[in-house]
Amino acid sequence: MQWKVGQVKITKVVEMETVGSTRFILPLASNDEIQKLPWLIPHFATEEGRLKMSIHSLVLETPSQRIVVDTGLGNDKQGRNVPVWNSRNTPFPEMMAAAGFPPESIDTVLCTHLHVDHVGWNTKLVGGKWVPTFPRARYLFGRTEYEHWRDHSTEPDKQAVFNDSVKPIVDSDRADLIPGDHRLSDEISMIPTPGHSAGHMSVLIRSEGEQGLLAGDVAHHPCQMAHLGWSSTADFDQNQAAATRAALFGRFADTPTLVIGGHFSAGHIKRDGDAFRFVALQS
Ligand SMILES: [Zn+2]
Repeated sequence: MQWKVGQVKITKVVEMETVGSTRFILPLASNDEIQKLPWLIPHFATEEGRLKMSIHSLVLETPSQRIVVDTGLGNDKQGRNVPVWNSRNTPFPEMMAAAGFPPESIDTVLCTHLHVDHVGWNTKLVGGKWVPTFPRARYLFGRTEYEHWRDHSTEPDKQAVFNDSVKPIVDSDRADLIPGDHRLSDEISMIPTPGHSAGHMSVLIRSEGEQGLLAGDVAHHPCQMAHLGWSSTADFDQNQAAATRAALFGRFADTPTLVIGGHFSAGHIKRDGDAFRFVALQS
């Protein structure tokens, strides 16, 4: 799936798609509640009210850079708290290459935040060692986000993620720690959107008068545009996450900005009473 924002091309490479079984992440999004939001169906939910989600990377091609935004779950990882996220064996780098993006052609990897399903392919296991999957890339991590997981993480599954998918990049001198409002280029800059995680960032694309927003996990699913207070169990600070949703969606609502989520595809945000709804772009 591909979109364009001015001169910037966006390609989605999917690692995993799911239908339903999302109550562990969005407990308030029951099938009945989802069916009350008919605009979610069929792009973002089934007729029965089950949520459709994906774990994907977004590749940005600007006039000067090839950027991978978020890197999914990865292969061979251990200690994950979702059983099927352990010991995976999928040809994701080969899929990227088939889409036109061999790993060595990527110059920048950008993680919106450092959760398990956004950092996995930062590294791959070679001869018992975690090495960068993208051998020529600089990896950009938010400084606040990085320091949070380095200094304040005590849960074993979070430590496993940091140790196999983040730390090896820093140890091999491939990481740049960036501020939450960092500007990468004329076209690409970050918007600090904390709440889902301590240092979560979204990505703003601007080119030739057009705008795109890669929201990351500000919302796991467009149903949270209608229910700003529906927090995900993964949200670090639920109040801040809800306030960030209101501010970010309010900024881009009723504009032609192309919006893509960390776990959902492209659309436009519209105001709807006190909240918002999402109009899918794809047919
Ligand atoms: Zn997340």
